[in-house]
Amino acid sequence: MVSKQIHQKAMDLGFVSFGISKAGFMEEEAQRLDKWLNQHYHGEMSYLENHFDKRVDPSLLVPGAKSVISLAYNYYHPDKQKDVSAPKISMYAYGKDYHKVVRKKLNTLFEYIKTLCGSIEGRVFVDSAPVLERDWAKRSGLGWIGKNTMLINPKKGSFFFLGEIITDLELEYDHPIKDYCGTCTKCIEACPTEAIHPEGYIMDGKKCISYLTIELKSAIPETFHDSMDGWMFGCDICQQVCPWNRFSEEHEETMFLPEPALLDMTKQDWENLTEDVFETLFQGSAVKRTKYSGLKRNIQFVTGFKP
Ligand code: SF4
Ligand code: SF4
Repeated sequence: MVSKQIHQKAMDLGFVSFGISKAGFMEEEAQRLDKWLNQHYHGEMSYLENHFDKRVDPSLLVPGAKSVISLAYNYYHPDKQKDVSAPKISMYAYGKDYHKVVRKKLNTLFEYIKTLCGSIEGRVFVDSAPVLERDWAKRSGLGWIGKNTMLINPKKGSFFFLGEIITDLELEYDHPIKDYCGTCTKCIEACPTEAIHPEGYIMDGKKCISYLTIELKSAIPETFHDSMDGWMFGCDICQQVCPWNRFSEEHEETMFLPEPALLDMTKQDWENLTEDVFETLFQGSAVKRTKYSGLKRNIQFVTGFKP
């Protein structure tokens, strides 16, 4: 009953998908993560090596943890950058930074749970601590992890952010769903840097354009010169080609609405981007993460333009 009330409140807050898992040590995921790190697929993201134990055991994040509530928040929007030759930006970064927006919703939901259940402990997470978000969402039945390594919901696709509430409250648990990738290999074939393993389900993070344009602090290796497909911040290709994203619907979050000025920028505007325009355009945006110098580096790399 309580689980249903929480689910309803989550939907009222605008989340598009919801599920609950029993908290516990993630044995299978721990082995997979260990192997992935040993292959050095994380490149320069050394922070992923930290807190391994916490990453695979929620009780080390919330003492006495009993439940992990997973939630998805839609960011799909059909509007696109108008100049098709302009360097591209991933759709998730069209509006304001999702971390704050989703965290606020999660806090509201957690406060609601407290009013229902009294004195409970817990924490909210949105890409903010060592939590294996996709794996928890999979366990909670929000979707399956596709060959492109994204969480895919059979009714809503994959253009959404994930968040969690880990709590010491015992709830009713959901179950994982089946993998519906089948014989499809569209994402593997479409990835311009061959970052997805030929058989899918494993990503060589250091080859992914999202890593190269956002995480990588040093120069982008020249070997990627012809394979960036014009992406200057993130990359959406393996989601765009995924047939399940035909079910994506426009989000209703005003904070994520694309900045009209951003969509109007031409290739030339990007090539001549000044720090002032950068600051205005990306106020409160996740793009700020690269700083002006990082975005300039990416623009120069993908357009070949040197002022
Ligand atoms: S985001 Fe782009 S570069 Fe990364 S795996 Fe997907 S298609 Fe490849
Ligand atoms: S494109 Fe095909 S193989 Fe890749 S994640 Fe989507 S359904 Fe799975």
